[in-house]
Amino acid sequence: MTNAEAIALSAAHEVGVYARQPVAFVRGRGAELWDADGKRYLDFFAGLAVNNLGHCHPAVVEAVRAQAATLLHASNVYYTLPAGELCALLCRHSFAERVFLANSGAEANEAAMKLARRWGSQQGGGRFEILATTGSFHGRTFATLTATGQEKYHTGFLPLLPGVRLVPYGDLAAMEAAVRDETVAIMVEPIQGEGGVVVPPPDYLAGLRALAERRDVLLILDEIQCGLGRTGRLFAHEHAGVTPDIMTLAKALGGGLPIGAMCATERVAAAFTPGVHGSTFGGNPVACAAAIAAVKALAEPALLEHVRTVGQHLRGRLEALVGRHGIQQVRGMGLMLGAVLERPGAAVVDHCREAGLLVNCTAERVLRFLPPLVITRAQADEGFAILERALAARP
Ligand SMILES: *Cc1c(COP(=O)(O)O)cnc(C)c1O
Repeated sequence: MTNAEAIALSAAHEVGVYARQPVAFVRGRGAELWDADGKRYLDFFAGLAVNNLGHCHPAVVEAVRAQAATLLHASNVYYTLPAGELCALLCRHSFAERVFLANSGAEANEAAMKLARRWGSQQGGGRFEILATTGSFHGRTFATLTATGQEKYHTGFLPLLPGVRLVPYGDLAAMEAAVRDETVAIMVEPIQGEGGVVVPPPDYLAGLRALAERRDVLLILDEIQCGLGRTGRLFAHEHAGVTPDIMTLAKALGGGLPIGAMCATERVAAAFTPGVHGSTFGGNPVACAAAIAAVKALAEPALLEHVRTVGQHLRGRLEALVGRHGIQQVRGMGLMLGAVLERPGAAVVDHCREAGLLVNCTAERVLRFLPPLVITRAQADEGFAILERALAARP
């Protein structure tokens, strides 16, 4: 099948919810991908921060191969070995004492929101309200859509879930003013991804943590995009030196397989008791085997150091372009970087893709760079050169 044939087949039969780029991928390795016509691309997108270990990381491939030949599924009516091992691994590497396994980011956030509400109902006093932020992205289910502070995602889906309120992102005073007696949790991304790689002021997370203590509400951190090594630490909140009550993970967790996780403290997780929540596929053995291999590799100090080094290098090269080619600002951390353009970025994305580089544009004008964390400095330079030519072309 060629690119054109794959595109035609999808166009004829798939529900058209994706505004897709006209290319069909058939193979990947490390930071490289090949399309159905045999063309090679350098990857500065990593499947939207999923392929943090690069494409087809050998440890993940081998774990999947071995588990697929052993046990594919058994049901949460029983125990399986990979799920417990993965939860133990996540607890060992984070503040978490308990983990609930889901199949996606939205489901992990849905579980976090349900857990907060249930915790609130057990605290008494009728507390239920979740405060989320403008510009956020938390998923496409109704609860997570409601917490997503971007109107374009809400259009046509009203009414949304009651009991969720949006507060300006990065504004500690606004959040302090927003907490009221009904409030049970504050839910934020440590760095907003879809919202345009928005880094909050340095004291924001610590301020939210202190606020949560003071008002006895929960702090939920959505690390689905910024977690798992992306910022040069295993979890983005480590930069702020504080821990949440609940953290959600997905995207890079399965090394390319679909899996999500809600990680929580014992105190909060105790509000979930047998029968109150669940998922048929949650903790699937193959997804968990992949995730065990992925988390082990992502937690390697040498990899995290590499992210900081290559991230700093790429950032420096991008910053040298500020004021030229219509680039106004560079922001982000580690290998989660954004370049704010003075014009829409879609034409730059197209130009790069045609020249063999995958980049993304979000929030209309923010070129977003999320390369696999294993990308070499030489590959980063190769991609940057393509990007610079695309910007200079001023399409
Ligand atoms: C992608 C994303 C989600 C949703 O994850 P899905 O697996 O698509 O449901 C939630 N939060 C953030 C921050 C994300 O980037």
